[in-house]
Amino acid sequence: MPREQFLPAALGEFAYDDAPLPIDEGQTISQPYIVALMTEALGLQGGERVLEIGTGSGYAAAVLAHIAKDVYTVERYGQLATKAADTLSHLGYGNVHVLHGDGTLGWPEHAPYDAIVVAAGGPSVPEALKAQLKVGGRLVIPVGADRGLQELVRVTRRSQHDYQQEDLADVRFVPLVGAEGWAPERPDDIPPPAPPPRRRSRDADLELVESIRAACEPFQDIETVDLNPLLARIGDARVVLLGEASHGTSEFYRMRERISRELIERRGFSFVAIEGDWPDAARVDHYVRHAEYPPSEWTAFARFPTWMWRNEEVRRFVDWLRDHNQQLEPQRRVTFRGLDLYSLYNSIRSVLAYLDQVDPHTARVARLRYGCLTPWEADPATYGRAALTGQYETCETKVVAMLNTLRSKQQAYAEHDGERFLDAMQNAQLVANAEQYYRIMYYGSRASWNLRDGHMFDTLKNLLEFYGPDSRGIVWAHNSHVGDSIATEMSHRGEYNIGHLCKQEFGRAAFSIGFGTHDGTVAAASDWDGPMQTMKVTPSLANSYEALCHEAGEQQFLLSLRAPSSPELLAGLSRPRLERAIGVIYRPETELQSHYFQADLTRQFDEYIWFDRTHAVTPLQVQMLAGLPDTYPFGV
Ligand code: SAH
Repeated sequence: MPREQFLPAALGEFAYDDAPLPIDEGQTISQPYIVALMTEALGLQGGERVLEIGTGSGYAAAVLAHIAKDVYTVERYGQLATKAADTLSHLGYGNVHVLHGDGTLGWPEHAPYDAIVVAAGGPSVPEALKAQLKVGGRLVIPVGADRGLQELVRVTRRSQHDYQQEDLADVRFVPLVGAEGWAPERPDDIPPPAPPPRRRSRDADLELVESIRAACEPFQDIETVDLNPLLARIGDARVVLLGEASHGTSEFYRMRERISRELIERRGFSFVAIEGDWPDAARVDHYVRHAEYPPSEWTAFARFPTWMWRNEEVRRFVDWLRDHNQQLEPQRRVTFRGLDLYSLYNSIRSVLAYLDQVDPHTARVARLRYGCLTPWEADPATYGRAALTGQYETCETKVVAMLNTLRSKQQAYAEHDGERFLDAMQNAQLVANAEQYYRIMYYGSRASWNLRDGHMFDTLKNLLEFYGPDSRGIVWAHNSHVGDSIATEMSHRGEYNIGHLCKQEFGRAAFSIGFGTHDGTVAAASDWDGPMQTMKVTPSLANSYEALCHEAGEQQFLLSLRAPSSPELLAGLSRPRLERAIGVIYRPETELQSHYFQADLTRQFDEYIWFDRTHAVTPLQVQMLAGLPDTYPFGV
């Protein structure tokens, strides 16, 4: 079903989310899952005459039209009825008949119906609808004493006067307004505005804001903030995950730098691993460790979104790390690693360069095997599509064989240089996972998301293993990767992330820190591959965690969630609320749909760091790089 056809154009990109979305007149198009549930509950066999109340966009009517012989649908808003009728006829649904009117009275001209479905919630089951049901027919309707909260029930007509009722699920629909439904909210019958996410009691929120204010540790300045209390809470954690609520906010980077410096200097952390590609991070790594590798043929972090790592904030940290490492023995130098897997071709080049040096024969084999992927370099996603059609060979066996070849040579290769072997293995692993990533991308976001986070987690584990049982690592990645996915909507979609995998593997020895902001500016693009812009961040939405933190009235603070200072704070913050996530794309026009999700903050993070007003990162300017050594990782 082309659900985008039933939506306002601006929301087209959300068409395949399993979520209700706003349509005109303050109404909603139902969640696909609910449409399926209700349709199934009607028990249609095919060939029936069905009545639907609440046409809305016409989407559910179209679904029904695929099964039933005729669908009669009634909508209270003339504008919606006309539009739905247009959409349905445009899509060729000749068996759907739309009427503008009060559906609580049914559509008696075509009665009786085999099945009736009501897509809005009424105070009770309208008598008119029961009367228009055939004996043996089913009526599915949300009913509830509250205008916005109902029980989905199924009424089956057993005989002329006998109706049986079953409860199916708790649901939330817009109100059924009409003679046998709710009264219009306002006498002039102007539609109510789109139902906002249900507000909690204002008083409870005020108390919660009070407890945040009491519990938080405000600070003046990132450079001087006393991090001792935080370090005490981190204790001897093995992995510290530092999040960010956007990919372009200066304060998040600077605070992550500050915390990382403390962890490195005072707690002996041995590496920083970022949400960036392995081979790109390796270039920075060579620089910070004063390693003598020849400059490579490509520019590090040159792919979209370049500002995510090529910015002044990261550059400052990298320069600090290089200085810090200067005074250390080479083996004790802190390393800079990449966890991500978008560098398929640079990773191939790295494996080949390595093999050319250590084993030219195997290098020839590798060239043949990796050659399978060469035609797709300009756009690896097309490889995935081509492989799916079955008309092109997949390269899976070849890239996996290459990984196994390398693995089998561990003894021989790693003896010369364990460090370089690790690098080659990681790249070969990346190629194997990226090959799979591009193929499964077309099966939907869940599988590819999990593959990617699984890869990042495995890379992290390989690093910890490489550095030995006492090693400790720092991760820099978005909140959506480092916060435990179990506490967010992600888990309903079957997705997991590094934060979750770390909790499973390391328990309390994984410490995850989330970041948040209310407003300010952010570096982001409007579309994938679009230019970076400095955009204004819209003030956070009421009923979000961000709104609570904003009302606490401090410009910046640390808030312990692992050891919350009061039971009220814990209870208040564990009730799921909206949380904002900005990625490399920012769409303020569709902020609620694009950037907010439901989460339970206390289960997601061990600590939350707040910056009320934030600023965009400063991307590196080419002229600033003039005169730097060839090995400088951000060179052009
Ligand atoms: N089936 C729709 C869901 C629409 S939401 C879809 O798939 O898009 C419910 C719709 O019921 C709203 O459009 C609302 O205007 C309509 N509605 C509410 N009370 C009604 C009534 N008494 N008669 C007809 N439609 C009604």
